[in-house]
Amino acid sequence: MMRQYELVERVVKYDPDADEDLLNRAYVYAMKAHGNQTRASGEAYFNHPLEVAAILTEMKLDDATVAAALLHDTVEDTEATHQEIEEKFGKEIASLVDGLTKIKKIDLVTTEATQAENLRKLLLAMSKDVRVLMVKLADRLHNMRTIEHVKPEKRLRIAQETMDIYAPLAGRMGMQTVRDELEDISFRVLNPDANKIIQDRLSQLHEESGDVLREIEKALATKLAENGIKAEVYGREKRPYSIWRKMERKHLSLGQLSDIFGFRVLVGTVDQCYRAIGIAHRTWRAIPGRFKDYISTPKQNDYRSLHTTVIGPHHMRVEMQIRTRLMHEIAERGVAAHALYKDAPDAREALDGFRPPGAESNAYRWLRHLVEMLQEGESPKEFLEHTKLELFHDQVFCFTPKGQLIALPRGATPIDFAYAVHTSIGDSCVGCKVNGRHAPLVAELQNGDEVDIIRSDAQVPPPAWESIAVTGKARAAIRRATRAAMRKQFAGLGREIVEKLLAKQNRPMVAKEIAAAVPRLGHKNVDDTMAAIGRGDLSGYDMLKAMGLTVEASQMRESRRKGTTKKSDQSQAASVPVRGLSGNMALTISKETGAVPGERIVGISMPGEGVTIYPIFAKALEQFDSQPERWIDLAWDSDASQQMFPARINVILLNEIGALAQVTQVIGDHGGNIDELQMMARQGVRDFFDLDILLEVHDARHLNDIIAGLRTRNAVSAVTRATG
Ligand code: MN
Repeated sequence: MMRQYELVERVVKYDPDADEDLLNRAYVYAMKAHGNQTRASGEAYFNHPLEVAAILTEMKLDDATVAAALLHDTVEDTEATHQEIEEKFGKEIASLVDGLTKIKKIDLVTTEATQAENLRKLLLAMSKDVRVLMVKLADRLHNMRTIEHVKPEKRLRIAQETMDIYAPLAGRMGMQTVRDELEDISFRVLNPDANKIIQDRLSQLHEESGDVLREIEKALATKLAENGIKAEVYGREKRPYSIWRKMERKHLSLGQLSDIFGFRVLVGTVDQCYRAIGIAHRTWRAIPGRFKDYISTPKQNDYRSLHTTVIGPHHMRVEMQIRTRLMHEIAERGVAAHALYKDAPDAREALDGFRPPGAESNAYRWLRHLVEMLQEGESPKEFLEHTKLELFHDQVFCFTPKGQLIALPRGATPIDFAYAVHTSIGDSCVGCKVNGRHAPLVAELQNGDEVDIIRSDAQVPPPAWESIAVTGKARAAIRRATRAAMRKQFAGLGREIVEKLLAKQNRPMVAKEIAAAVPRLGHKNVDDTMAAIGRGDLSGYDMLKAMGLTVEASQMRESRRKGTTKKSDQSQAASVPVRGLSGNMALTISKETGAVPGERIVGISMPGEGVTIYPIFAKALEQFDSQPERWIDLAWDSDASQQMFPARINVILLNEIGALAQVTQVIGDHGGNIDELQMMARQGVRDFFDLDILLEVHDARHLNDIIAGLRTRNAVSAVTRATG
């Protein structure tokens, strides 16, 4: 446990004017107030407020904040009262503690509409004084660090709340270090399996790549030094949670992730930042579309940096963040850094053109803006629609028609929404209305959208949804549902087969006899056995034999042959397996874009030529906007997996030896076919050319695999699905 004098010393070290007496009194008061109380871990309760205070000293916060941290649990958990705190420590600290006491009672993991109201209360309590938020985040950080002592059920709840609310809030306040740690611990609690897999892969890569990290660090620093720039270069592995998010977002597999290293380059001045990036771009080849200038246009949370990705030493992708040391401080500590630097003259210079000296930070202004809005008495729902919103820039918040709030990752579709409300709603979802209008199930949801899911009990989620959904919950449920549906179909087929075979021997199907035969076949229940027969894993005759009936060998052979013939007949049945058309209309898939199962499609009737199928995102559809009578609602038939379908993609490729071979190899490795390939020099940029490829693939998932595979190749700088 940290000693009293150690804590005070820490504060005095960065703030010589700190009120030592105040800190000492708060320490003693809190220690006495918590007395013999213990935490779930068995240690003295006082250790908790002390650790929270210590975290705040790392952020170099003022004496009042550190004192409030020591006292933060006293009013709620001990005999101490607000009055007493005010008498002993003054109004400022009493009001900080009061804010923290109020927050404690707010439950944010409600799935009811009350979540909006509670979040509003939380922000209101915190935004009166930004220091309340600092203490709250430090409090949560320490609780997360010690979460293994909490009961499993409560642990999940706390981790979920941290992931949903507190980590994004820390991020919005620019406190990257706190955000990262909150996310990492929550991820470990919420998804231990994924966390372990990623950790294992990271250590494996670590062994394989050896000292590459240090080598690149050195190469970067040397190159900059040669050009007269003294820079500190830090290489680091990305965190498991950020890797996980990337995998989810881009549907990548772990093996396909190439850029798991990132580098930070810290220099003295803004001018040096731009010179450093110039040197990097002259020395190594920059990947187009990856250069971002957050110095001239800072992020909303005041983050400033130059970002770029180059193909560096060892032909590895090297992701770089270049910034001044002060920008770095702000990137790591956000609002907390501003509190300290607001009066320092050299800080003013370094921040020149960023904000006027003495002005509040963007993050704090945002918080204050929120309070004003809240005081204007907006309804919680409107409030969420307008602001929350900005806070969680990687999330979208949508509502059910009854006003229940559903938080989803950015990029989520109505399918994800349906599964987030309830698995049974996802499974039976056939369509949706977004803000009162019919919308495709693949539409990307936006903040504040009201989503009304249209359901049918006859629905079974099509397997292709799995590649459309972005949330793990939806994808797992879809997999489960399709497996269950397939099993049911096969079981039905298996029953028919057995019934027919029995009929040939003039025997009825008797449930008791069947059930008795099941264990002899090594199966657990009748449904499983019938599904195995339907699937062809088990012969119907095996069932008959298990029932004690005689079966001729010649009959068995015949049945096997028939089984195979039937299958190949089915796959030739229709050239384009879609539902939604009557009669024998000629169907073609647009060559401009192609279209594959899993992509939402529409048909356009072409007089005299039949129907042309377009994916919903095809630009060509715009020309038919004014002719709604030509639009035909189509859907892929669920049994389309045997065929290949056209899909056009655009690739930006490095102009180097072997680049094209890399592309064709990836496509070949994934079992895709290349139907057409065109190569064009990229205008004005010598080093790159454009590839236009018409592929043949099984479905959207297959296509995504190929696209993800291409993205991992060094020679490939961008891959997009063609929209025509
Ligand atoms: Mn606490």
